[in-house]
This record gives sequence, structure tokens and C-alpha cells, in this order.
Amino acid sequence: MDEFDYIIIGAGSAGSVLANRLSAGDTTVCLLEAGGPDRNLFIHMPAGFIKTLANPRLNWLYETEPSEGTAGRGIPTPRGKTLGGSSSINGHIYNRGQRMDFDTWAQMGNRGWGFADVVPYFRRSERRIGDGDDTYRGRDGELVVTDVDRRDPVTDAFIDGAVRYGIPRGLDYNGAVQEGVGYFQRTIHNGRRVSTARAFLNPVRRRPNLEIQTGVQVTRIVFQGRRATGVFCRRDGTQREVRARREVLLAAGAIASPQILQVSGIGPADLLTDIGVAPVQVLPGVGENLSDHFGVRLSARLANIETINERSKGLPLAVEALKYALLRKGVLAQSPGIAVALCKSNPGLDYPDLQVIFAPASYKESAVYELDDFPGMTTGVWPMRPESRGYVQARSANTGDKPLIQPNYLEAEADRHLLLDGMRLARRLLQSQKLSEWYVHETSPGESAQSDDELLNFARERGTTIFHLMGSCKMGPSQDAMAVVSDELKVHGLEGLRVVDASIIPTAHSANTNAATIMIAEKAADMILGKPPLPAAPV
Ligand SMILES: Cc1cc2nc3c(=O)[nH]c(=O)nc-3n(C[C@H](O)[C@H](O)[C@H](O)COP(=O)(O)OP(=O)(O)OC[C@H]3O[C@@H](n4cnc5c(N)ncnc54)[C@H](O)[C@@H]3O)c2cc1C
Repeated sequence: MDEFDYIIIGAGSAGSVLANRLSAGDTTVCLLEAGGPDRNLFIHMPAGFIKTLANPRLNWLYETEPSEGTAGRGIPTPRGKTLGGSSSINGHIYNRGQRMDFDTWAQMGNRGWGFADVVPYFRRSERRIGDGDDTYRGRDGELVVTDVDRRDPVTDAFIDGAVRYGIPRGLDYNGAVQEGVGYFQRTIHNGRRVSTARAFLNPVRRRPNLEIQTGVQVTRIVFQGRRATGVFCRRDGTQREVRARREVLLAAGAIASPQILQVSGIGPADLLTDIGVAPVQVLPGVGENLSDHFGVRLSARLANIETINERSKGLPLAVEALKYALLRKGVLAQSPGIAVALCKSNPGLDYPDLQVIFAPASYKESAVYELDDFPGMTTGVWPMRPESRGYVQARSANTGDKPLIQPNYLEAEADRHLLLDGMRLARRLLQSQKLSEWYVHETSPGESAQSDDELLNFARERGTTIFHLMGSCKMGPSQDAMAVVSDELKVHGLEGLRVVDASIIPTAHSANTNAATIMIAEKAADMILGKPPLPAAPV
């Protein structure tokens, strides 16, 4: 039987960072990943993102349960299933969040998670190429973060229009102040995706004390009494046990981590009974507190200007492909979102509460992710800190059965109100004077949709996940009955088991989730190795 000091379940954003940091000394580490190696070309070509969204070899292809907030629709919910996990199929955006997000986590009883505490961990993993105050930005880490290498007139006009509308021109939204409008910062380097597998696993693959096993699905965690001692896993239909001398580290993401805990006997009592699993530790919060950003796209038709739509078809696409092959530049080297406005729904607020993304591209109504045949532009908008909460529940004791996922999108009234504000703001930004020389008309939802009901119906019928599932194994003190892990990410009531991934996020932060998940794993690695935390940043 294989035995290691540490077993890491899942080689995603968090698991890859953990594998790198924990194997830097002489402890032995086994990284178990259900998906295969990350060889597919579309992982590495930034615009290949769209091709990975429906590929079952790279993607778990989950779907949420229908709800009132989605007009009875199930929403397709991709999650990466390969080395790098969701960082191998994500939209490349690097966005950390706001000071108050992490200060709120600390206020909830999580010592050491305030903004000043986490900035050093964001810095440690980052290799920022571009502007930024080095009090906040890292220059020597593994994760390359770059600026766009191509500006275009439509995006420039969107940004100028937003500035005229009163949104400040952003300096560095990953620095002291998040608010502002500007081009995105991205995890793309020399025209290739910087997944966590590329950044954190590739440089250390040859370490003799690190074993990376792909195609291995963990089926449950093994306990002796209250101590996790290993895992059962399956590869090519064969079950085996892998043992951990020190700790089992669960990093399977916000859907699979609570599911693995539940099938291992850790979760709400009723659910464990329903799926026929003997309880190891009753923890009612496992799978609860699920949160996600739910966004709506508004699009407009343009004229007398070239957008990504025309450059992504026929002969121009062939030219782009050649450009990419030879120079790693052009449309195929771009992320799907190009610019962002991190802004306030009300000028009286202390912090932004809406994220609006922009691309000089638009999609057909009838087809998923197929670009229009005419020039177009799109914004996507969502409330940054949604209040709606849902759950993940195992349907059986078999991790091969996809769990039930119910995010309860738009259940909270505050989310509906803020989304309406956001849609109206996004519409004004598309109709700004700076874009007016090309603007023809709004194609989606269309200018006839004006009332709250019309806009909200559109949101329910067409809104979608922004792919930021989090919070389903919430971090919090043991007095909080719904907390699953402590502020050292140890599962309450058990030994030798931590959860380290986006599922521990106690309350949604104001950003895309990859950067914070990497930060969580950086911080966890020091805790696991018994190192003192990095000194708080002077911020
Ligand atoms: C399509 C998409 C676009 C996104 N765009 C952005 C973006 O632009 N910017 C941003 O910041 N965030 C984005 N995100 C979100 C971000 O990528 C995720 O929040 C982040 O990667 C989550 O990291 P994680 O470590 O929690 O989980 P993951 O990265 O999902 O890793 C979990 C890993 O565990 C593995 N696993 C699961 N079950 C098992 C099992 N039983 N046994 C073994 N292995 C298992 C999975 O295969 C996976 O590799 C996007 C996500 C998606 C899906």
C-alpha cells in the first residue's frame, strides 16, 4: 500500500499550490487528480477557453437544479477536470477582491485572514509583469500576471465612456483601491494560459518526494477513530487505499469537496442517513452556504468598426490562427473578457458593489458561445457580494454520481435589486457618447425591456453562472454551527484533515475566485508546515 506524509485530493488552483509548497522540503506528498494530464491545445491557447466548456475529458459538466431565480432552468456549470483544475479552463482574469472582503472574513472570527494578513500571500505567488505598487504586488512568484498586449478602439471607447459617466479610470484594481474601469489583468504569458499546473506543478514535477497521479478519483476518506489516515481511490475501475502519515488535504473544489466529505460520513445528519453513510462527524454546514456570482449579459450591434466577431470567422480566423502559431499574438491570445468596471451602484457607498465586464464581441441568441455575424459588443454584470445561498448534496454514497447543486440564484431580494441597478448601469455604459458613433441598437435584452419586471424576467431566463462557486465548506469558529473548518482550515471535530480550496470562503468576496483560492492555498501551506505566518503587510 502506498504511504505518504501528505495526500492532496485534487490538482486544481489550490491543490497545485499545496503540492508545490509542501514538497519543497523533504516530506513526501501524493497529489491525486481525477482528470487527466493537461495536454489539450485548447487549455493553453487563451481563446480555447470556449472549447473546454463542453469537453467531458476536461470538465465535470455539472448542472444546477432548476429554481425560480432561473425561470426553472438548470444552469450548465463547468469545473475543470485535469491538472490545474478550473484554472485550466477559466477565463484568465486576475482579480483579488477588496480590503473589506478579507477584513469581513476576519470579523467573522477567522484570525489571520484580514486584508493586511492575506496581501503577503497574494504577493508570494505572484509574478506581476506591469505596473503596480510593490507593497501589494509580487514580482518573484510563480503565477505570471500580465496586462493585455492589444488595445482596441471599441474597448478604449467603453472605458472612456465609463470615465465620463463618473467611474474613475482604474490604476491598479489589485492594489490599494479596487474601484475603477480599465483593461483586465490576466493569467496569460507570451500568449499561453498560466494555469496553476503550469505555474506551480511543471517546475517541480521531478522532485523525488512529489508523486502526481492523474486519472485517480478519490471515493472516500478513511478514518481511524476521529483521525483521517488516508483515502480510498479508483483508477481504471480498480479500488485501492493510499495512506497519509500526517494529513489528508481536501482540495477538490466547491462542488466535489463537500460531496467527498458527505460520502465519507461528515455532513448533516439527515443527509448522511439518506445516502446510507455511517456518520463520522455530524457537521450541518457541509455543502451549505454555497455561493456564486450570477450575471447577465447585455449586447449591442455595432457598425463601421471591426470587432472580435468578424476576426473569428473564415479567412480572418485563418490569419489569426497563423498569427497565433507564429507570434502567439492576436485574437486567439486574448481572454474572453477584455475590460472591467468595478463600480458602485450608489456614489454614497464606501466600496464598489458591482462588477461589469466588457468585450468587443457578441454572441448569437440561438447558440451557446457562437459569435454574431455582425460587429457587436457585450457587457456582463453581477452583484459582487451576493446574499443568496444554496447547497451541494451527495445523491448517493458514490462519488461517481454527480451531486445535487442548488445555488438558489436571485433568491435574496437584495441580489435582485442590485442586479437591476447593474443592468441599467451596464446599458448606460453601452450607450455612452464615446461608443455612439458605432452603436446601432441593443440586441439583448433589447431596448423594449425597461421595467423592473421585464429586466428581471430577462435575468431569470438568460442569466448564468459566472463560474465562481464557493463557500460550501465554510471557514468559521466552532461556535458557528454551520462552520466546517477552523481558521487553520482543519475540519471541526476531526484530526488529520483540512479543506483547502474555494469551498472554505466564508462569505463571497468581490472578485473572480482564482486569485483568492491560490492565496488560501499559500496560507494553508504555511499552517500545515507549522511555519509562522508571513508578517502583515503595511497596507
Ligand atoms: C469556466 C470557468 C471560468 C472561470 N473564470 C475565472 C476567471 O476568469 N478568473 C477567476 O479568478 N476565476 C475564474 N473561475 C473560477 C476559478 O477558476 C475557480 O474558483 C478556482 O479555480 C477554484 O479552485 P479550486 O482549487 O477550489 O477548485 P478546482 O480548481 O476546480 O480544482 C479541483 C480539482 O479537484 C479535482 N477533483 C474533484 N473531485 C475529485 C476526486 N474525487 N478525486 C480526485 N480529484 C478530484 C478536479 O478534477 C479538479 O482538478 C472560472 C471557473 C470556471 C469553471
